[in-house]
Amino acid sequence: MELSKRQERIIEIVKEAGPITGENIAEKLSLTRATLRPDLAILTMAGFLDARPRVGYFFTGKTGSELLTEQIKKFKVQQFQHVPIVLKESVSVYDAISTMFLEDVGTLFVVDDHSCLTGVLSRKDLLRASIGQQDLNSVPVHIIMTRMPNITVCRKEDLLIDVAMKLINKQIDGIPVVRDTEAGLEVIGRITKTTITKVFVELITNDQV
Ligand code: ADP
Repeated sequence: MELSKRQERIIEIVKEAGPITGENIAEKLSLTRATLRPDLAILTMAGFLDARPRVGYFFTGKTGSELLTEQIKKFKVQQFQHVPIVLKESVSVYDAISTMFLEDVGTLFVVDDHSCLTGVLSRKDLLRASIGQQDLNSVPVHIIMTRMPNITVCRKEDLLIDVAMKLINKQIDGIPVVRDTEAGLEVIGRITKTTITKVFVELITNDQV
């Protein structure tokens, strides 16, 4: 996060003279306590300063990048997951390709009658099927998909950083978010490389991720 000149000055004062009361910080800056209140609230919430009752403000010793790292490590899948695009196993490869274009996604999930995960279709899976001689209208996706139990999944309470690592380690573009049910793993969302890229850009351009 970008600090204002005044906020940087407050950090300097607290580093030098902390623990120090809000009143005393205000005095040193020739401002009123009320004027400083929003800045102190921001610096405390962001983790640069800590406050103890009857003691005052003190410097936590954490740098901006340490605080950013702490913040990112708390991100959960459910805050960022997108709607999954799913198909039934009997859908043709031709229709799967159409769906990929219409929905503008790179990964499709295949489900059974209970909305439970049975397979994954990537762009290359569909390309591979297309360069064969078959009639794409007569080949169902369950013939060509990557199938359970070889699918990497995540759950809504997982940490986003762990899912990002799975995307890298498994060299895949998308991971379904699933919920455990009696019938199997119900597909409830997706995390893709685009999700992670968006989080990265928002962290830089906008503090309110
Ligand atoms: P592409 O093949 O278009 O580059 P991916 O890298 O995502 O896209 O897919 C590579 C292979 O991994 C494909 O065969 C695909 O079916 C499979 N795959 C994709 N996502 C997963 C996943 N979450 N779990 C297991 N396999 C996957």
